[in-house]
Amino acid sequence: MLHTGSCHCGKISFEVEGDFKDAIDCNCSYCRRRGSLLAFVAKDALHLKTDPADIETYRFNTMKIAHNFCKVCGVEPYGEGTAPDGKPMVAVNLRCLPDVDFDKLTINKWNGAEH
Ligand SMILES: [Zn+2]
Repeated sequence: MLHTGSCHCGKISFEVEGDFKDAIDCNCSYCRRRGSLLAFVAKDALHLKTDPADIETYRFNTMKIAHNFCKVCGVEPYGEGTAPDGKPMVAVNLRCLPDVDFDKLTINKWNGAEH
């Protein structure tokens, strides 16, 4: 299924392929502040419709994950990293996909604070 997603102001917009039934609610020092619900897809499932120059990136701790956020509104629709097998992955913030019904998601808590 193809979903449309964006930051709040729309400067970052994209389509993403995925059948999202589960989401990860992480409690690390970053996610607990941000309040996102994450789902992981292969990088080629995300079709960005935005000039990369409009995207800002934040990295912390191991610096391995690129947290991509909008320079205008500050919302982070997705992050980028690498799966254990080396494949490029995207962590989509399901809260930035207007057609996702959060009440139908199974929320899996991830103890990122201790990883
Ligand atoms: Zn924005």
